Amino acid sequence: MNRSPSPSHLPRNVGIIGAGPAGLTAAYQLAKAGIAVEVFEADGSVGGLARSMDLWGQRVDLGPHRFFSQDSRVNRLWLEVAQGRYRMVDRLTRIYYRRRFFDYPLKPANALINMGFGNAAACLASYFKQQLSSPPKSDESPSFEDWVVERFGRKLFEMFFQSYSEKLWGIPCQELDADFAAQRIKKFTLGEAIKKALGLGGKHHKTLVDRFAYPLGGTGMIYENMARETERRGGKIHLKCPVAGVVMEARKAVGLKLTDGSVRPFDHVISSMPLTLLVRSLGQAPPPVLDAVARLRFRNTILVFLEVADQQLFPDQWLYIHSPELQFGRVTNFRNWTPELTGRSECTILCLEYWCYEQDAIWSESPDQQIERAKAEIRATGLVPERSAIRQGFVLRLPRCYPVYARGYKTLLKPVIEFLRQVEGLTAIGRYGSFKYNNQDHSILMGILAAENLLGQGSHDLWAVNTDYESYQESSHIEATGLVSDTSNREA
Ligand SMILES: Cc1cc2nc3c(=O)[nH]c(=O)nc-3n(C[C@H](O)[C@H](O)[C@H](O)COP(=O)(O)OP(=O)(O)OC[C@H]3O[C@@H](n4cnc5c(N)ncnc54)[C@H](O)[C@@H]3O)c2cc1C
Repeated sequence: MNRSPSPSHLPRNVGIIGAGPAGLTAAYQLAKAGIAVEVFEADGSVGGLARSMDLWGQRVDLGPHRFFSQDSRVNRLWLEVAQGRYRMVDRLTRIYYRRRFFDYPLKPANALINMGFGNAAACLASYFKQQLSSPPKSDESPSFEDWVVERFGRKLFEMFFQSYSEKLWGIPCQELDADFAAQRIKKFTLGEAIKKALGLGGKHHKTLVDRFAYPLGGTGMIYENMARETERRGGKIHLKCPVAGVVMEARKAVGLKLTDGSVRPFDHVISSMPLTLLVRSLGQAPPPVLDAVARLRFRNTILVFLEVADQQLFPDQWLYIHSPELQFGRVTNFRNWTPELTGRSECTILCLEYWCYEQDAIWSESPDQQIERAKAEIRATGLVPERSAIRQGFVLRLPRCYPVYARGYKTLLKPVIEFLRQVEGLTAIGRYGSFKYNNQDHSILMGILAAENLLGQGSHDLWAVNTDYESYQESSHIEATGLVSDTSNREA
């Protein structure tokens, strides 16, 4: 067990960049332990990508935000902060592909009916062909395409994975690292799928795939509560206060420089600002590190919110839009989360997601153009019938919200991580903060572990926080508390 350091070894004050889930969790945990913390947030509200906001008399998130974790530390913290103000939501999400709806996660019987006998036979044939062929030998890490084809066959890859992944990442699936698949795609064996379809899978327990806990005030409620509790314990949260960079003395971080030019001294800095910008701001990175940083890419998102005068559009919390002829990749329907979000409004708010790079024309279009495209595309799906008026639209542009796992990204990250390990007094955490495809739970976990390191309660390697989650959702049963336990060691 780690012994706590003597009080003289604890940092007297910690400066934190970013009030998203990662930064706020670290602040909250440190404030509870009596450390003086100050959080600097560029935006006007807390929660980062997981914030909620008021729109047209309703409450919305930035796209779909379903919280889940099998880590007991994360769940304990979430429950502590939610203070009982959450509901369990039965999940319904489907794939929209060429005017048909496929259950997601995929269910064999539903997939069979939707794709028709001919396509289903072709999928099975390509699956078995793949199982009989020996996997290619290569020292390189496999591409996303190879990973999926090897497990599912080429036909299923083309129907269910290719168009969506290429929309999301904007690069061919051959150029995408298999890490994305390993983290995000459910484990699958045909035998298991057939057993389930025939009802031979044993007793069905509700798992994280079926239900999730959702805060009554929107996903951002968790972070609003965390911020309030941090301030109650003496912590400071500065909104609209962007940080320009970290101030260094020799190899040690000694404070923060704000964009207004002022400098704030700190014993330790925790950063959840984009890793690439953090490294550049240090002013000490050697050319190979700067070169690597220049080649790490992020994908941007344009969110187009539409207010529709209709309360019964479709039953899903969100739909994945695989049809390649449509540019948007996902649509959230906030009416299907909790009644607290919609209040008394008679309208439904939808949120369409468009993914792009900064240099793509769509990123610099005017909001009016983006709203017109969204209206036309949602009408083309038939999800919003002509009789339902679309009253208004609102656009939110989110830069750098997906770290792109292009093949070779791990090689680029390696020297960056090695360089940062040598900087004293600095911890990088979070989604773009550590270039990890984090969900809320991973960022919360990084915040918890960063605080434990500073408090001498652990010596965690934060770069090793795992982002493998689809597989554990399958083995995690919903408990009476509304959150989960890992059942991998229990009898089913
Ligand atoms: C469309 C969409 C859907 C998602 N769906 C889910 C889901 O279903 N379930 C789930 O768990 N997660 C989901 N996520 C992911 C989740 O939002 C993130 O994992 C989480 O918000 C990451 O937290 P973070 O603190 O690491 O980063 P962020 O949330 O990005 O927070 C970083 C904060 O740092 C601030 N900042 C950046 N630079 C500076 C600077 N220079 N100075 C001061 N402040 C700065 C930013 O303004 C921001 O507030 C989704 C994300 C998106 C975009």
